[in-house]
Order: sequence, then structure tokens, then C-alpha cells
Amino acid sequence: MAKCLFTTKYWNYGTHEQVEWSCDSKDEDFQSRPDKCIFHDEDYLQLGTGRFLEEKNVRTRVMDKVRKSIVDNESLFLIGYYLPDVTIRGNFTKRAYFKECRFLGRADFTSAEFSGGAGFGLAKFSGGADFGLAKFSGGADFASAEFSGVAYFRSAKLYLGRDI
Ligand SMILES: [Zn+2]
Repeated sequence: MAKCLFTTKYWNYGTHEQVEWSCDSKDEDFQSRPDKCIFHDEDYLQLGTGRFLEEKNVRTRVMDKVRKSIVDNESLFLIGYYLPDVTIRGNFTKRAYFKECRFLGRADFTSAEFSGGAGFGLAKFSGGADFGLAKFSGGADFASAEFSGVAYFRSAKLYLGRDI
């Protein structure tokens, strides 16, 4: 049985403590290697000529997680994920963790609402990021996030000073 070896620590906004996080990927999330899921394998999205297929695989499964977190009111954990172009919308009523995410394509968060808090600490945005009209009413953490493309926060509501 495959097991993803990705682990890191993150700050839990609910319990206010640093906790260990281990990847919880299921068997169907392993394709390239047995010790890294497709979200944590840094090479998976660069593979061969079938790159579109890999991107589609990651995007489809990530969107399932996003929908599930919205519908079931659960926290979203995409910690340390390598992501292709993604469009993430909706109201996240629970915490959304994008810590250490590598956004390799365009990250479109237009109009997304994070009422449960959003963690983008150490995230890297390399293909441009759009947070236009996004609302961070639950607070947002962009500590040490890096933007190497254009980043828009047009009309985003950041609610600065709010503690998450
Ligand atoms: Zn993993």
C-alpha cells in the first residue's frame, strides 16, 4: 500500500498550536511513485508529454476536496501541494490551509470567501495570482508567501489586524 511521506508542521488556527501534519492521500492519489502522492511529487506535473493529463488529474481531485470542504463544512488541507492552474471559488466557512503550496500555474481565487481563516504561509505563486474581490473575513496569513508573477488583490477585503 502506498504511503505519502510528506510531513510538515502548521499552525492550527483553531487550537492555537503548532501541529504535525502528515499527508492523508488515498491509494488512488498515487501514480508516479509509491512514497509521494501526485500532490506532493514535485516532478509529477512536469512528466513527459502527457502533462495535460497530469494537470487534469491533480485539478480534478483538488476540486473534489474543495467542493467537499465547502459542502461538508470541513477544513481544507492542501498543505505543500504542487498545483497547476487552479480556480478556487466559494465560501470556506472552515479553515483553509494552503501553507507551502506551490502554485505552478495561475491561481484564481476571484470572489472566494474565507470566513474560517486562510493560511498561505510560505506559499509560492509562480504563475500569477488573482485575489480580486476575495474576502478574508476569518483572517489571512500570507507570512513569507512569494509572488513571482503578477498578484491582484483588487477590492479584496483583508480585514487586517484580525488574529487568526
Ligand atoms: Zn502527499
